[in-house]
Amino acid sequence: MQNLSVDLSVNQVYRSKRKAKDLINGDEQLQYGVPRDYAQMITTVDKGSRVILQTEMTEETSQPKFKRMYVRFNAQNVGFLGGCRPFIGLDGCHIKHRFGGQILSATAKDENDNIFPVTLAVVEQETRESWIWFLEIFADDIGRPEEFQLVFISDRQKGLILVIERLFPTVEHKYCVKHIYNNFKIDYKGLELKDALWRCAAATTVREFERCMQYIRDLDEKAYEYLTNIAPAQWTRSHFTPRALTDCLVNNLSESFNAMILKSMDKPILAMLEWIRVRLITRLYTKREGIQKYAGKLCPSIQDRLEKLKVESKAFSATPAGSFLYEVGSQYERHVVDLVKKTCSCRSWDLNGIPCKHAITAIYTNIETPEDYTHPYYFKETYMEIYKEVLPPMPGQSEWAETGQPAPLAPHIYKPPGRPPKQRKRAFNEPRNPYKASR
Ligand SMILES: [Zn+2]
Repeated sequence: MQNLSVDLSVNQVYRSKRKAKDLINGDEQLQYGVPRDYAQMITTVDKGSRVILQTEMTEETSQPKFKRMYVRFNAQNVGFLGGCRPFIGLDGCHIKHRFGGQILSATAKDENDNIFPVTLAVVEQETRESWIWFLEIFADDIGRPEEFQLVFISDRQKGLILVIERLFPTVEHKYCVKHIYNNFKIDYKGLELKDALWRCAAATTVREFERCMQYIRDLDEKAYEYLTNIAPAQWTRSHFTPRALTDCLVNNLSESFNAMILKSMDKPILAMLEWIRVRLITRLYTKREGIQKYAGKLCPSIQDRLEKLKVESKAFSATPAGSFLYEVGSQYERHVVDLVKKTCSCRSWDLNGIPCKHAITAIYTNIETPEDYTHPYYFKETYMEIYKEVLPPMPGQSEWAETGQPAPLAPHIYKPPGRPPKQRKRAFNEPRNPYKASR
């Protein structure tokens, strides 16, 4: 008011802000009318991509309304099946505009420990139904999770757990330990319990896990009972199988993906999807260019990890017991390393496919190099397989062919689950407790 000498109401300011945003990003409501043309353009330009649009009929109008949209580009499918570990993070992320909705995403991890977005969908809300819809398309599109022994990681939320149990009963499903801890700390506070919980999660052998759990039991019996209600295979390394080739305890895949797309979350649907598409093009391109200049055998961050382990391995000495069989120990611990089976009794090698510090000692004693014992997943060639496919550029909206089918209307606005917030405000002269006042 002072700077421009205008007098505006708060509502006027909100309305002008919305108009200005519409001018920049396009109209929020109108953009729900174009997904059909958009889907057709993607599948024409990018052969092998998959876009599914779901509409719904409501009593209010005779025209279909936008409900859900699944988008997966060819380069994502090729990359994931070409060399990513069978490990997928699942999560939802809120869209911040008038019509709301959420993005459900499946994110994998590449060989260099970076995220690799596999697919996403715009849905009305994160519910059991929308997860079933998303995961059924995922299984049909990418492949049955049971067949390629996929491992899922997600927050420990009831809806999603039941959905995965119902759709893919034999598939491994890990819970994000950060999420478990956030719920745990509501009732069981203190740094000691926090550290103990994380030690339980990080324990790689069953004995160590049991010792850590006993420690929690001595601290707080109730906290111990709380944790025994979660199956160990879902949150501690000691019970993980080597299927996913990662000992990852938290769903930082989805967290990083949500952070990556965060800037687009307040844009209208089409502008948002376009922003994500362009971001993916850039990401795939820079990764592809980057690795071509790299000369090492292993991916850079894996090589760094190995270098650190090589330093740590100096504290150990190996005693040969048979051909390729070693007992590796220091003052404080002792482990059995089998170079043929590529295992160590600390289980770290089995879980990650990267020789642990004990194994490295044995490998050096055997006059060999740790790089040769690292899983082929981490080789530069495998990494190049992931990023070999180009996500093709696409012309602007004015060039899209019209499908001729009825354009969907903006979606029905769903209320979030749970009790609605209390709307009514107390009048200025209304007593806080009416019963008290009437007496
Ligand atoms: Zn070891």
